[in-house]
Amino acid sequence: MSKFQSHNFSGQKALIRVDFNVPLDSEYNITDDNRMRAAIPTINKVLADGGSVILMSHLGRPKDGPTDKYSLKHLVSRLSELLDGAKVQFATDSVGEDAQQKSAALQPGEVLLVENLRFQKEEEKGDENFAEKLSKLGDLYVNDAFGTAHRPHASTAVIAKFFPGVKKMFGLLMEAEIVAADKVLKNAEQPFTAILGGAKVSDKIELIESLMERAHFIIIGGGMAYTFLKAQGKEIGTSMVEMDKLDLALELLAKAKEKNVNIILPPDSVVADRFAADANTMTVSNDHMPVGWMGLDIAEEAIDLFGNIILGSKTILWNGPMGVFEMEKFHYGTLEIANLVANATALGAYSLVGGGDSVAAINKFDLADKVSYVSTGGGAMLEYFEGKELPGIAAINS
Ligand code: AMP
Repeated sequence: MSKFQSHNFSGQKALIRVDFNVPLDSEYNITDDNRMRAAIPTINKVLADGGSVILMSHLGRPKDGPTDKYSLKHLVSRLSELLDGAKVQFATDSVGEDAQQKSAALQPGEVLLVENLRFQKEEEKGDENFAEKLSKLGDLYVNDAFGTAHRPHASTAVIAKFFPGVKKMFGLLMEAEIVAADKVLKNAEQPFTAILGGAKVSDKIELIESLMERAHFIIIGGGMAYTFLKAQGKEIGTSMVEMDKLDLALELLAKAKEKNVNIILPPDSVVADRFAADANTMTVSNDHMPVGWMGLDIAEEAIDLFGNIILGSKTILWNGPMGVFEMEKFHYGTLEIANLVANATALGAYSLVGGGDSVAAINKFDLADKVSYVSTGGGAMLEYFEGKELPGIAAINS
């Protein structure tokens, strides 16, 4: 049993860093509450033990101090619903009088949410004084914010030093994220296939290099595939390309060959005459892409080729869509890859989906419960797979 699971919180105040950075529409309705849902088991465990909970989070990127648009007060009623109607108190500041008074008066079984940490510029600066003031709100520190674990901020990392020994720990979500990531990063059953997509090669260079040390196959789709194809001397029409990364793409291909890692590029594309939902489209071979057309999705041959590899894999990491899946005409490749990852999972593979847009895609296609794990951390998951030590994890482990 983990430190968190075996701890009895009875009579104690758990100060929990959560990642409630959820999207809000113009009327402050939460349009995707997955990140809130993900923290509920941790909160419930503390409450069930007879402890109380003080929650702290950031929301968005407020630049000028307190701003109504970024207030966590918009989350209070949904949080209460997710906690089966439990009352959620709200403090209008994070380290000020309101937070101090309300946390001091908190009784077992009660929940307090304090205001957006990023209303104080000290949060992102990792200011020690601010971290110390925050630490006074609770008896124990629980970090359950995997989505911000790659930031060395006051509430995610610096604060841990004010909770020595047994007083700092990961929450259940953080534990699950680390277990899932390590299963792929450190204990992958072979064959291990990484599926990478999305827009830019430049965002994924370190990821590709790190995966070369571990994966058997690296499948590359999405916009980034065209930089590799162009580097190989192919005509790519008006497809997305990073001209300053052509040499790097060739280097990556050569390095992979040296290491016996198969980088698999799509043999065909759905091309469009312009970047629009109602563009004219056709399917073409990537060896003969017509001038003036752009590749916006992988096509049948690529799906077959990728599919054979995916279905033969025992470990799968998926990051990034295969095309412009937000548009109906170009979502098919991403949908099919999602289905294939789900099928491989049913056949016994371990599959981890991480990174903002592939998570959005798997949710859109309603397949989240057909894969082994869907990560809540986009940037954090990427950095973990790049082999970096995340400050939020290091602070608890040290
Ligand atoms: P990323 O944030 O790098 O994972 O990129 C995700 C974005 O890449 C999504 O918004 C997709 O629409 C976009 N994308 C995927 N494939 C292509 C493509 N072939 N051309 C242009 N954009 C693409």
